[in-house]
Amino acid sequence: MSEKVNVTKIFGQNVFNDTVMRERLPKKIYAALKQTIENEKELDPSIADSVAHAMKEWAIEKGATHYTHWFQPLTGVTAEKHDSFISAPRPDGKVIMEFSGKELIKGEPDASSFPSGGLRATFEARGYTVWDCTSPAFVREDAAGATLCIPTAFCSYKGEALDKKTPLLKSMEAVSREALRIVRLFGNTEAKKVVPSVGPEQEYFLVDKEKYLQRKDLIFAGRTLFGAMPPKGQELDDHYFGSIRERIAAYMKDVNEELWKLGVSSKTQHNEVAPAQHELAPIYAQANVAVDHNQLIMETLKKIADRHGLHCLLHEKPFAGVNGSGKHNNWSLVTDNGVNLLEPGKTPHENIQFLLVLTCILRAVDRHADLLRESAADPGNDHRLGANEAPPAIISVFLGEQLEDVLGQLISTGAATHSKQGGTLNTSVASLPNVAKDATDRNRTSPFAFTGNKFEFRMVGSRDSIAEPNVVLNTIAAEAFCEAADILEKADDFDMAVHDLIKQYAAEHQRIIFNGNGYSEEWVKEAERRGLPNITSMVDAIPALVTKKAVELYERFGIYTKAELESRAEIQYEAYAKQINIEARAMIDIASKHIIPAVIKAVNTVACSLTNVTNACKEADVSVQKELLIETSDYLSETKVALSRLIKATEEAAAISDAEEQAHAYHRNVVPAMEALRTPVDKLEMIVDKAMWPMPSYGDLLFEV
Ligand code: ADP
Ligand code: MG
Repeated sequence: MSEKVNVTKIFGQNVFNDTVMRERLPKKIYAALKQTIENEKELDPSIADSVAHAMKEWAIEKGATHYTHWFQPLTGVTAEKHDSFISAPRPDGKVIMEFSGKELIKGEPDASSFPSGGLRATFEARGYTVWDCTSPAFVREDAAGATLCIPTAFCSYKGEALDKKTPLLKSMEAVSREALRIVRLFGNTEAKKVVPSVGPEQEYFLVDKEKYLQRKDLIFAGRTLFGAMPPKGQELDDHYFGSIRERIAAYMKDVNEELWKLGVSSKTQHNEVAPAQHELAPIYAQANVAVDHNQLIMETLKKIADRHGLHCLLHEKPFAGVNGSGKHNNWSLVTDNGVNLLEPGKTPHENIQFLLVLTCILRAVDRHADLLRESAADPGNDHRLGANEAPPAIISVFLGEQLEDVLGQLISTGAATHSKQGGTLNTSVASLPNVAKDATDRNRTSPFAFTGNKFEFRMVGSRDSIAEPNVVLNTIAAEAFCEAADILEKADDFDMAVHDLIKQYAAEHQRIIFNGNGYSEEWVKEAERRGLPNITSMVDAIPALVTKKAVELYERFGIYTKAELESRAEIQYEAYAKQINIEARAMIDIASKHIIPAVIKAVNTVACSLTNVTNACKEADVSVQKELLIETSDYLSETKVALSRLIKATEEAAAISDAEEQAHAYHRNVVPAMEALRTPVDKLEMIVDKAMWPMPSYGDLLFEV
């Protein structure tokens, strides 16, 4: 048995949270800061010194020697630059530990090496990190000791956002403002804000670190670029929810402890569908905290894996032929007085506020399906979306039987008079209790599913930040609420007007609702008939960012300027091209330096044995050796031809200077050339002596963790 953990004691022990602030800050300062945290007042810079002092003292007690502004540039991972607290040595040669309000509020990392998509020329290198007091500071412990991490936003000298947090905070304000207008219409005068609440479920793979280190493709690309299928894949479904092996359990225990200390409410863990795949879900939190926590979860999963002789793969598709990893982004809107706007209650047909919110969201998703799709675009996700496993690349909404029926009644008869009920599940075993059933079954294939009192956006990639999907969700919902409120606030007869509007939205956006099997071919055809976009690749998803519709939406709600959107599109194209370039070059490297030489050795061995046998005995039957030799040589020549083609395609794509054109060239020419190289190599793996194959196989990686 491992050591006992006192969860309530360690939870949040490394977080500068409300309790710590209340204890350590002067009353007036605490009150002022609290008002800013709750979005009631702008930050008063004069309180910063006092907060910084308290933070520093607290962090030093926890062993911190350094502090860092912790931010999320457009690289997709978090960034940090550490400064120690020490002052300049005094005349007596000693130092003191310092941290000023100025240092808390503002940092100035050299911005020139972060992606800006043309927003900033390299010579204009200034960028600022700015304290986000709505996400609590924390002390992180690692090999570097303990570091005080201060969540920050990151902007250019001219004020453009260079990060994922700034637009997220703006979108939270926008949706809060517009959703408040809706709840006011229904007589809620108490709520002061509406908070988007987010719970992301994180999937990941664990492989043995020793084996990982022998796979150059995993090291360079985060996914396998070669690999024949093992005799067993995931067809038995015996891994999903299977009992967790000791080695993995010990790992999960350490992950949880580390996360709990950081105030991340790690809640659910289980084995996932693919072998060596697992999932971790925290309890939901307000969107910006959830985004920060998800980054901490990803960092912690990686860090702890290292300590356990494991390696954590967060790539969307580390292994061809078995399920990839995603992140289900559960999203709802909750007022600060505790009302979830997505809670239908037992009789949704009578819950008019819910029906309005629901149909507004249908409208938002139907109109901006392209933006949602784009928010989940990433080179790794191209292997999942539309590839028969994770959600299809077509956005549709699953509502379930009960709500579909209520909307159906509204559309056909003009009035909804009843809601289907779930009833009771009769277990037919006397000793088992009968249990209440939900009114609706689940649907695992839908990319955007209503699951009880929240929507679950399932397209997001496992490695991606969840900031962008939530920016989109918040903003498109804000727009729909704003339009509805514009109409309803002016209505003479509110009841009539709201009824008509719900009916109108339900009818107009019915096409986005789909409760069937999202993986089927028929759905692809049906969706096409309905006019729903089917965007199967990242390069085709990116243009959604800069359509007239998108620019109008984002500028109207002050989330992004046109220039910021253009820069983000540019960064996406660049990110795609760079990623595929790395993958292609890794393949070229591995094929030329490892695989081809190994196969030649194998061929020589067979050829030698052939000569030896025939020398020893002229009549010996060597047909097997000969066949093997011919087969191997054939695949080897195929490999060589495919390799030359890949080299050529990669060189041609790399030479293109326009980012968009270049990304398309990688997609159109390099990706198929990579697949063409993989095919003969995977065949070779099946016939070459395992002892001579230059890297661990899929079987070794997936089943020997
Ligand atoms: P599932 O049944 O899909 O596994 P869970 O109840 O386990 O769903 O929740 C999955 C995630 O959704 C968790 O992170 C959970 O905290 C989060 N979640 C639950 N309710 C809400 C809500 N109202 N808003 C946002 N997220 C939620
Ligand atoms: Mg789920």
